[in-house]
Amino acid sequence: MTGIVCIGGGPAGLTAAYELVRHRPDVTVLEADPLYVGGISRTIQVDGFCFDIGGHRFFSKSREVVDFWKEILGSQLLMRPRKSRIFYGGKFYPYPLDLKATLCNLGMIESALCGISYLYARCFPTRNPKTFEEWVTNQFGSRLFSIFFKTYTEKVWGMSCSEISADWAAQRIKNLSLFEALKNAVMRSLGLNKKNNKIKTLIEEFLYPRKGPGMMWEEAARKIEEKGGHVQMGCKATSLAYDAVAKLWNIEYSDSKAGNTKTIQASQVISTMPLRELMHAIKGVPAHVVETAEKLRYRDFITVALAITDRSKFDDNWIYIHSPEVKVGRIQNFKSWSPEMVPDDALTCYGLEYFCFEGDGLWNASDEELIALATRELEQIGLGSPSDVRKGYVVRQPKAYPVYDQDYQGYVDIIRDWLEGSCPGLQIVGRNGMHKYNNQDHSMMTAMLAVKNLLAGDKKYDVWCVNQDAEYHEEESRSGASGERLVPTAVR
Ligand SMILES: Cc1cc2nc3c(=O)[nH]c(=O)nc-3n(C[C@H](O)[C@H](O)[C@H](O)COP(=O)(O)OP(=O)(O)OC[C@H]3O[C@@H](n4cnc5c(N)ncnc54)[C@H](O)[C@@H]3O)c2cc1C
Repeated sequence: MTGIVCIGGGPAGLTAAYELVRHRPDVTVLEADPLYVGGISRTIQVDGFCFDIGGHRFFSKSREVVDFWKEILGSQLLMRPRKSRIFYGGKFYPYPLDLKATLCNLGMIESALCGISYLYARCFPTRNPKTFEEWVTNQFGSRLFSIFFKTYTEKVWGMSCSEISADWAAQRIKNLSLFEALKNAVMRSLGLNKKNNKIKTLIEEFLYPRKGPGMMWEEAARKIEEKGGHVQMGCKATSLAYDAVAKLWNIEYSDSKAGNTKTIQASQVISTMPLRELMHAIKGVPAHVVETAEKLRYRDFITVALAITDRSKFDDNWIYIHSPEVKVGRIQNFKSWSPEMVPDDALTCYGLEYFCFEGDGLWNASDEELIALATRELEQIGLGSPSDVRKGYVVRQPKAYPVYDQDYQGYVDIIRDWLEGSCPGLQIVGRNGMHKYNNQDHSMMTAMLAVKNLLAGDKKYDVWCVNQDAEYHEEESRSGASGERLVPTAVR
């Protein structure tokens, strides 16, 4: 019997393969990277330091996903406390917001102005908000929008908040208004949110593998192979052709280790490769669909990891850098994620994160220039001295974020309609695979549903119905995901 191919060895592809291999060992994962599994959730290991592509919290409302993680890593999965702050205007704001500290930092006059602009927005809201700016201003007022949303969001997306779709705000911060935020901040300040609050648990602590998220995916890959499946590294799928007579997919891939091109046949394919690339790879896609796929955009990402003498400057897991004076968007302290991320207790490792577009000035800067920039900006913010920096490492991550501009949903719908009507046995799952702003749990859940469909022999589950909390809701299929996130700026 011809086997099943999962394209991509990130969380979605490996989850699919792991779930499948319990039933069928004829599963092959093709992973383009020659070294690492885990995709965006991999952990880089160099000179004894471990660091993520952005810190990766493991949290999920889905029992199935959490059970999966525990089954793979057991006691190697740590429960870690969360601490994060916002840096803006030379001050640190606890995040999630703490009312007292926020009012103190803002000062009486600014706090009053924020209140007035909030009341104004409530009395004169923009009807049918279409952009991120309109949506957030309606909820919080223009002053709070510019302090807590505008600069960071624009760093992340590289475009004005007036160009970003309101969908993105609705997906990430649905149901959060100033009233809710204040209520949470007051509860937090009074310590009243400690019990019976699921959201609190998600926000204040999280699971994390003791050596980073890559550990999870390396172990998953090992277990897949142990059960008879194959995880082929350095194998990039380049073309997919459906043979309607044989009812088989012929998948061509380049094998970087062997230095040649090979073909594998599959009766079923689960793809997690970026949707735009997939539409170029499939043979026979109508020109208008390929042109539509070409319009999907991505935001790219650079981590500059600095190995530095630990002067206990901060113990946050990460700090959001809203200040427009510096380019850095967020700073991770990987030792706070897990002490095992650094090889020596006298050292720590900061990950300075830069959002960019592939090919722009930041992306094309040399590693030396980026390390110098990160070192300079760390000092500018007051979190580290250049003389303490021992070494720097640079990782460029293309396609870190699928962009939600005003038109993306229409493009995705066109592609999805064509795929569903023309590609039997092919399912798309995961983050870039679906061009959906998914975390690991959501990406995994879509993979789990695809496997259920495959094993049942019909498409009983619609993977587009998984919302941001990795919950399956039939009614959400075409309207974009929903799901409450009480963390307004938590762009991951
Ligand atoms: C900065 C940042 C921080 C994040 N923080 C969190 C967090 O705290 N918690 C959380 O749960 N999630 C977080 N995420 C999201 C998480 O990284 C993704 O949800 C997850 O990695 C998506 O899994 P995936 O398998 O769909 O895709 P990916 O991780 O993108 O994996 C896809 C894999 O497919 C491979 N591939 C691509 N094309 C081909 C091809 N043609 N042939 C073969 N292989 C191919 C890639 O090399 C890659 O390994 C974060 C993301 C970012 C960018």
